[in-house]
Amino acid sequence: MNAASEHSLRIQTLANSVLAGDRRALSKAITLVESAQPLDRALALNLLDIIMPYTGKAKRIALSGSPGVGKSTFIEAFGQFLIEQGETIAVLAIDPSSKRTGGSILGDKTRMPTLANNPKAYIRPTPSGNLLGGVARRSREVIALCEAAGYSTLLIETVGVGQSETDVSEMTDCSILLLQPASGDALQGIKRGIMEMADIVIINKADGDLLPAARHSAAHYLQSLALMPKRMPDWACPVLLCSALEKTGLDALHEKIREYFVLAKENTYFSKKRSEQLSTWLEDETLAELISAFKAQPELQAQYQALQQSLASGVSPARLAVEFARKIIAPTQP
Ligand code: GDP
Repeated sequence: MNAASEHSLRIQTLANSVLAGDRRALSKAITLVESAQPLDRALALNLLDIIMPYTGKAKRIALSGSPGVGKSTFIEAFGQFLIEQGETIAVLAIDPSSKRTGGSILGDKTRMPTLANNPKAYIRPTPSGNLLGGVARRSREVIALCEAAGYSTLLIETVGVGQSETDVSEMTDCSILLLQPASGDALQGIKRGIMEMADIVIINKADGDLLPAARHSAAHYLQSLALMPKRMPDWACPVLLCSALEKTGLDALHEKIREYFVLAKENTYFSKKRSEQLSTWLEDETLAELISAFKAQPELQAQYQALQQSLASGVSPARLAVEFARKIIAPTQP
């Protein structure tokens, strides 16, 4: 057998195992799509070709919140709850800050010990090492693989600081924002842009002494949300109370998510959002491929560096950029 058919057999076997729900195969497949090696990339694309028809069936739920609001405690509790309702879950993490800190703080199995040991849950291991263009770049492929492996709900965790390099809400169907009880400046301080991205807001830690502050915060956020544009027609973003620690409020949240998906499917918001997700995927990858092709050409790099030199002369960077881009795209035109 030649090398090419050996590779293709290997990928077909891996795809079959992923489709059969084999967790080790899923981890292997994720490592493959995250690899920056050119041969791995070619194999990853073959793998995606095979699994694409089996993707798209899961609910893609984004869960964001600042560090400390209780995301891992919540996922641990809500994940268990969903499994009791017959779901299977994959927990993925997109950590926009990992480029700067040099490693993901999210997606760590030890943060969700019960869920990590449940055969109906898959927690994506923390990405590490030789990633191609940041953690977020391959997230869509990881989502596709988890769907092909048959998980019915994907919880995609992110630190909600609104600076994710690839907007998580561009990859998901429903965005949940997790907040905690607050008062005074902290209550006012939550950024409008972050609230505007939410389909469902949860005030976690609504327990014990924190309960009155949780109720007060919920009323405050509900008022702010009423003044914001609706993300989905006819959907007023609800603010729910829950305690991940005491496992309260989870059934009400589950019901809200169900209502959200029913409405989204009825009014075609869901199908539009899914087709937008595919379009932005195509756009992002096209741009990324163009940039790497550009970077791989020493002659173009040299020309670009020459442009940088000419900046000091006071010429407009906008003008230089336009002319340079035109020259690359249509080199024969005057
Ligand atoms: P993350 O950084 O957002 O993942 O937050 P963690 O899940 O690690 O939780 C941060 C802290 O908040 C921990 O000390 C948790 O025990 C605590 N915590 C999380 N959920 C709750 C809750 O529902 N009630 C209370 N009282 N504390 C909570």
